[in-house]
Amino acid sequence: MLHTYDIAVEEDAATVGQPSSGVVLLGKYELKELLGVGASAKVYHATNVDTGQSVAIKAVSKNHVFRGGLTAHIEREISIMRRLHHPHTLKLFEVLASKNKIYFVLEFAQGGELFHKVAQGRFSEDLSRRYFHQLISAVRYCHSAGVFHRDLKLDNLLIDQHTDLKVSDFGLSALKDHVRADGLLHTVCGTPAYVAPEMLAKKGYDGAKVDVWSCGVILFVLTAGYLPFNDHNLAAMYRKIYRGQFRFPRWTSPELRRFVCRLLDKNPETRITVDEMMGDPWFSKGYREVRIEHKEFELERESRSRGLNAFDLISFSSGLDMSGMLGEAGVWEGVERMVSGEKPAKILEKVEGVAKAEGVRVRVRKEENEEGAELEGQDGNLKILVSIYRLTERLVVVEAKRREGKEKGAKFWEEKLQPELHRLVYKD
Ligand code: AMP
Repeated sequence: MLHTYDIAVEEDAATVGQPSSGVVLLGKYELKELLGVGASAKVYHATNVDTGQSVAIKAVSKNHVFRGGLTAHIEREISIMRRLHHPHTLKLFEVLASKNKIYFVLEFAQGGELFHKVAQGRFSEDLSRRYFHQLISAVRYCHSAGVFHRDLKLDNLLIDQHTDLKVSDFGLSALKDHVRADGLLHTVCGTPAYVAPEMLAKKGYDGAKVDVWSCGVILFVLTAGYLPFNDHNLAAMYRKIYRGQFRFPRWTSPELRRFVCRLLDKNPETRITVDEMMGDPWFSKGYREVRIEHKEFELERESRSRGLNAFDLISFSSGLDMSGMLGEAGVWEGVERMVSGEKPAKILEKVEGVAKAEGVRVRVRKEENEEGAELEGQDGNLKILVSIYRLTERLVVVEAKRREGKEKGAKFWEEKLQPELHRLVYKD
């Protein structure tokens, strides 16, 4: 099936919590309020205009995306999120692009951050256990898929409309493939308060074990209402973490104390594993393994078989300047883009053939990085610009723009040229 890329209307500059002025992105998502602003992104609540489904849209400026390291960073975030399908991990529905922005269309977590709930008062052990079960279920699933989060903290735990947990933000995750020959991960990342002691030692660490440590910090915060390792002075805070030095509030039950001590064990070798948690008296109470619905895998397969999407374009095009590819709508009425595996010469031959058969004038352009053709009707009632951009060794993007208000042009496009171009679309 064909993938086309319309031109997005850039979102407006709303302030957090304020309703947006009904801007529709890519003719598909109507923006609602701004949910928050992160380091490189704005997050909007939006609805799919066709289905009414609520989504969250994370808008990242391409300046951020295409500036060196962050490209790889975002690509990694996308590829990781697309691999995860679990009831307690936040879903990534699709990735869209406009001239200046990349839009991540995410599952909407109506309840916001779990952090805000705890900030209103610590949870009972039963409620903490409920959330902790959901967190561990997601972590267990991610680990078995070769994905370690590495930045688990309360801010990354969102709540949906059923007050169920959704783990978000896999931007700092690392896959098993990134593990060096010694089997350990080597990048120091994460937020200090949740960082495992072995990460501070900068010697390399096991991604599964540092996630367990962070889960220990999260569980402590849920039940105590404050951080286990905290200090105004960062060096002092690191020291506390390094020594594994923390104190429980007096209301903590002995079973919970024992369990948390096993999670916040400063020695990664003896620290409890996710599998061992299943046998712990505090944890195992009422734990039910979440069954992963077969349907979700079906959905993923279906979306994959739909062919290339904006994500694939981005990941195929590292080093390519997308700004030329995702141009301004301007006077052009319709812009359609498709990915093809055909040679540019063959595509242009087709375009010429169709045009000539209909008595349309064609002028073929050949420039260093771009080839194309301009089609013009005899009576000025048709103007179409076809451009071909190389994406990879094998793939090109074919972009067709039509001048607005040209009736004959629309007919020629729909009935003649478009069907011909669609036959050239790349299929997996
Ligand atoms: P981030 O840039 O991921 O830190 O997100 C910025 C803000 O947007 C945070 O306050 C989050 O609570 C909110 N947010 C992010 N993603 C979602 C989502 N999928 N659903 C609801 N709120 C979200």
